[in-house]
Amino acid sequence: MTAPLFDSHMHTPLCGHATGSPREYAQAALDAGLAGVCFTDHMPMPAWYDAPWRMRLDQLDAYIEAVQAVQAEFAGRLEVRLGLEADFHPGTERFVEEVLARHPWDYVIGSVHYLGAWGFDNPEFVAEYGARDLGQLYTQYYALVEGAARSGLFDAVGHLDLPKKFGHRDPLGAAALRALDVIAGAGLSLDFNTAGWRKPVAEAYPAPDLTREAAGRGIPFVLGSDAHAPVEVGFRFTDARQALQDAGGRVVTYRGGVRRG
Ligand SMILES: [Zn+2]
Ligand SMILES: [Zn+2]
Repeated sequence: MTAPLFDSHMHTPLCGHATGSPREYAQAALDAGLAGVCFTDHMPMPAWYDAPWRMRLDQLDAYIEAVQAVQAEFAGRLEVRLGLEADFHPGTERFVEEVLARHPWDYVIGSVHYLGAWGFDNPEFVAEYGARDLGQLYTQYYALVEGAARSGLFDAVGHLDLPKKFGHRDPLGAAALRALDVIAGAGLSLDFNTAGWRKPVAEAYPAPDLTREAAGRGIPFVLGSDAHAPVEVGFRFTDARQALQDAGGRVVTYRGGVRRG
């Protein structure tokens, strides 16, 4: 008997780049035999930051209401929780703090999607990797991850080794280990994100060696498909559970910002 799985990273069409209604995501989770889901759509950020890829601030209430409607509809069949995927970007912390204070979120993921003005996980701007020194890129990236962990704003760090998405792997590794030390010290969890298996790198985030290093530091993992369509809900969760078991990693979820089991 294995514990039922929970998918804690998924989006809604409010972010402008996901398809399917929240009830379709919930139905897909039910069909996949999951115990529950947590919606974590891209949260509103200041108007100058990444605006086309997230809900606007004036859509936040609609997001809350949409997820609450699904919560009511699936009550007793599927646990539906409400969270956000926040961005960590220096200079936006005050804004993020204010948005997070507007609702008692179940779970907040802190992700780094930008190095300066470069959205490094956007396929449109992948050529920029050719102009960068990969060692420096990862050092800069993990310094931001440390900032996210120290900010006190988030429950987990999203897709830890995201810059590998298109196959540009970290040639050094030391910065990643330092970031894991900070994440462990701050008591955060890691998003074990199966979307990496759908990307050119064809590997979940974090990589197996980083997953082992994290588990060795006592950092727990939250399973997430990062679904941007209902069909992606619970994507390769059996493989994810196996990978975490192999690494000695512990799986948790969050409810009301409190880590569970
Ligand atoms: Zn997205
Ligand atoms: Zn993300």
